Formats: sequence, C-alpha cells, structure tokens
Amino acid sequence: MKKIILSAVILFWNVSILQGQVYWQQEVEYNINVDLDDKKNLLNGDLKLSYTNNSSESLSDVFFNLYWNAFQPGSMLSNMANIPSRFKDNAIGNNIEKYKNDEWGSQVISEMKMNDELVSFYIDQTILHGVLPQEIKPGETVVFRLKYITHIPKLVERAGREGPEGVAYTFTQWYPKICVFDQDGWHPDIYVAREFYGDYGTFNVNITADSDYLLGGTGMLMNPNNIGHGYSSQEINHKKGTRLTWNFQAKKVHDFAWVADKNFIHEKRKSLSGADLHFIYKKDKKSSKHLRKEKFKEDIKSYFQFMEQKFGSYEWPQFTIIQGGEGAMEYPMATVMQVQGDSYDDLLSTTIHEASHMWFYGMLGTDEQQYSWMDEGFTSFAEDEAMNVLLHKNVLNPHNSYLSRFSKLARESWIEPTGTLANYFDGKFPYQLAAYMKGSLFLVQLRGIIGEGPFWSTMTRYKNEWSFKHPTPKDFLRIAEKESGMILDWYLNLWISTNKYPDIAIESAYGIDNKTTQISLKRIGAMAIPVDMRIILKSGSALDYTIPLSSMFGHKKGFSVLPPWNYTQLDRIFTLDLPIENIERIIIDPENWTADVNRNDNIWEPKD
Ligand SMILES: [Zn+2]
Repeated sequence: MKKIILSAVILFWNVSILQGQVYWQQEVEYNINVDLDDKKNLLNGDLKLSYTNNSSESLSDVFFNLYWNAFQPGSMLSNMANIPSRFKDNAIGNNIEKYKNDEWGSQVISEMKMNDELVSFYIDQTILHGVLPQEIKPGETVVFRLKYITHIPKLVERAGREGPEGVAYTFTQWYPKICVFDQDGWHPDIYVAREFYGDYGTFNVNITADSDYLLGGTGMLMNPNNIGHGYSSQEINHKKGTRLTWNFQAKKVHDFAWVADKNFIHEKRKSLSGADLHFIYKKDKKSSKHLRKEKFKEDIKSYFQFMEQKFGSYEWPQFTIIQGGEGAMEYPMATVMQVQGDSYDDLLSTTIHEASHMWFYGMLGTDEQQYSWMDEGFTSFAEDEAMNVLLHKNVLNPHNSYLSRFSKLARESWIEPTGTLANYFDGKFPYQLAAYMKGSLFLVQLRGIIGEGPFWSTMTRYKNEWSFKHPTPKDFLRIAEKESGMILDWYLNLWISTNKYPDIAIESAYGIDNKTTQISLKRIGAMAIPVDMRIILKSGSALDYTIPLSSMFGHKKGFSVLPPWNYTQLDRIFTLDLPIENIERIIIDPENWTADVNRNDNIWEPKD
C-alpha cells in the first residue's frame, strides 16, 4: 500500500498532498514547430498544446499570452515606459513609437482549435481570450492547436532581431503561451515588460533554420548528430543553403527560450554534479573577452557547487549561458544576456544572478506578478551569498550593499509596498526597490530573526518541498515557522504589505548599583523586530543577548534571552546582572541582520 501511494505521488507530481491539503496545478505539454525566415523576419509556426485541468472547476474559457504584440506603437508596454514620472524606463523610452511598420512585433493567429473544434477568440494587446466550444472538466486533458505567424520585431526588451551586441535573433516569450489557471483563478496579465508566470510541463520544439545558424537555449538538443555545431563530438560540414531542423526537448519547465546567430562559439563543460554547462557567445573580441577565459568556466562550476550545497540540488540536466537579448534575463535551463563590458566581476555577478534564478523562478515557479520579491529578491540574496564565496570575501553577512542603500531610501514617499502587483508599480525604480532590495532583505532579516541553522534548513526544505510547483509567500513562511518553531506572520505582513521599517536605538545605559546595569532601548521605526544585543566587556569577552517579540512565541537559539519587547511599547528597559564599569561597548544588531535605517544610535560607549 505504501509503495502504491509513493509511486502515485511520483507519477502525479502536479497533484500532491502538501501540508495536509491537496495541492494541484495545471499541466502542459507543448509541441511547437517553427520555421525561421530570416529574409522576411518571420517565424511561421504551429503549436499543439495538451492541457490537463487538475483543478476541481470546469473551465469554459481560456487565456493565452501573445507577448510580442507588446512591441507595437501605443501598446501598454510602450505607454508604461513613457508615463510621465521621474522613474521613466529609459531603456525602452519611445523606441517602439519610432519603429517603422516592418520593425513591429506581432503574433497573428490564423486558427485556433480545441480538440478539433474551432475556438472563438478576441485579442486585447498581448492576451488572447478564447471561449471554449466545450468546458474542460476537472481531470480532463484537451488539445489546443494554434496556427500563427510571428513578425520578429527589432530587438526591444529581451526579444527580437539585431541585438545591441549584434546577435541576430533572440526568441524569448516568443510562442503563444497559455496563461496560468491556479487556486486564484486565471492570470491574464497584459505584458508591460515586467515579470512572468507559467505552467510546468514538457516542451518539444522543432526549429527549422538555415544550416549556418547556431542555436542555444532551454532544453536538450535531441538530434545532435544531425546538427553538429558543437553539440556532437564530430563536426558536420553542412552544405551552404541547406536547412536544419533542431529538435529540443525540456521537461519540468514553465517556459522555453532560444537564440540564433551565425557567428557563435560553443563550448561545453560539466558541473561537479553532472549537469552539462554550455557557453555560447560571439566570436568577436569584445564578446569573448571574459567568456573565453577558463576562469569563467571554473567560477561557474564552483558556483553550481555552492548553490547545490546551500539552496538544494540543480535538477535539470543542462544549463546554457548564451549571448543575446538586452541586459540579462533568466529562462528555464538558460540565461540570455549581453556579455560585452570591461569588468570580469560585473559579468560574473550578472551571470550568477541569472543562474540563481534557476532556483527562484526556474525550479520554484512563483507567480512573479503577485510575488515578484520571491523571485528577484531571493535571487538577489543568493547572488550576494555566491559572490561572497566566489570572490573569496567569505564574510558572515554579505548583504551590506542593500542594507545601506535601503537605509538611505526607506523614508522616500514614492516607496510602494513590496506586495504591490509587479505590473502596477509606478515606475521601474520603485519596483526594483521593492522586488530586488526589499525581497532580498526579507531573507536577510529572517536569517537574523530565526538564526543560521533554521534559516538554511528553511531554504533547502523550501526547495525540496516546492520544486516544480507554484509556492506562495505563506507556503515559504510556513516552512520557516516549522524550522524555527516561531510564529512569523507578523514579519511577512509588516515587511511585504506595508512600508514600515525598523529603527532601533540605544537611549542610555547606567549602573543601578555596583552589580546591575540598566539599558534603555527605543523603537523609532514603526516596525517592531527582535533585537540582538552584544555587550563587549573590558576583559575582551562578549555577551550575546536576543530580545524576542511576544508575537513570536519563541526565540533564536544560541543567545541569552531577555524578556520580550512588544510592538505596543516604544521604550523598554532591560536589566542585566553586570556592573557598568565592566562594559566597554554595547551594540544592537551587531551582525547587521536588520534593515535598521539609522545605525549611528546602535552603539553605546561610556563617556570617560
Ligand atoms: Zn533577476
């Protein structure tokens, strides 16, 4: 019986019992055939999608993303970049408005069917809304077929042709992609160049192109011996003018991206745990300056080893770093990025950021529209941890850059709560502050609240329990609560849903008699948070205390525990059995785990 249950869980990873509740998610199987016409810049294709409804509801309509319709004058994406605000998106600016007709992007659907019956649909910008001929019943699998032509835009925001570093074609968000239906219903988010959300499943992609193009991206190439181009052990000389069909497959991914160019170099290495690492970049000196170095490949191998130790195993057979797009962007099993630049460390940290998304985005597929901070924030946290090791800094807390920037910005009136939907932030910078900075600091502070052991076991348990699913903040928090034995809902709410921030101060310290010291602390910031206090004695030794909040019903281990200090009290006096004459210095939050906006009042020293 036990065996049967186990195999059922393994077979149906999209429906499982998690935390006592039945968890479900929809399942997709894409079969895509496309033909690249590089004379007319068209991608003609057909798409077959097997879609399994694992929800308990019957679905009467359906939504698909047609992202490339955003690359047209007047689109919401273009509007967004030009909203009069001090935080305009200068990278896009009014580029799209200036595009000539043949530089626009568009996805023209000529036919859509479900199980061979026509689906009536209308398109509003990047979203196709279809009314189904029959309902999709709970547990039912249906097949959608779409015939379409894609006009490849001049590159803008991660996708298109003629990239800034001369890469011919970047195909990201390039196929009609079904929107996610989950516990919160459908998610038809019109694309404005922010984040993504997709169903997990299988991609089988056939791409036909001239034989002198080299392709790379998501998925394993299934016909390397027909293709060559560095994928097979033997090189193949293709006759000029012939066309090749590349067959890629990827399992347990929620998206598929690819890049094509005629002047790529392709190198391969292996991570220590056995994943194939592909490096694909242009031959010119500027592009290959750092990527051709063996050190870069060794650093990427060390990086994978570090991530697997700290954040859990990498579960795909391959990872590809490929030059293309604009800026740098993550896709399952791949990153597509600009690689030219003078600084090796900048290229490494950008690559490490995108690669860290394989965990927080790739394997842990949160809804980035609702919870952008769990994607960009957790990734930024991992990036800082990994760079700390790769650059041999090896400090306990490598997050001081975000901590000090936050302390300067926390009081700005334009800051929006981190829980704001990603598309609705008023400008790119407030969005970045919320998603990247406050998202990363969510983990930094959590580590300070629950302590090293429970924090790292939370991270690996989160990865193990939620891989290839769509975790929400509460799912993550519940694991942190179980690993720490603390109640933490107050922390999630205050840091993510409000603009409150911590600012704790030492008001004074004084001797009561020759055995007792009283220390008066003040909470200036509106956010209550537990406080670590280190007393450095004149003898040279140090005493570490932790002051929990009552709301936690627990405290960090390995510290002397003082009575709780609650959010209802602004001031609090703590009494220690210690002569004040013995004290050299008192520091609160000595390891900088708290985003305390003013650290000048965190230290007390006796006046001589
Ligand atoms: Zn990112």
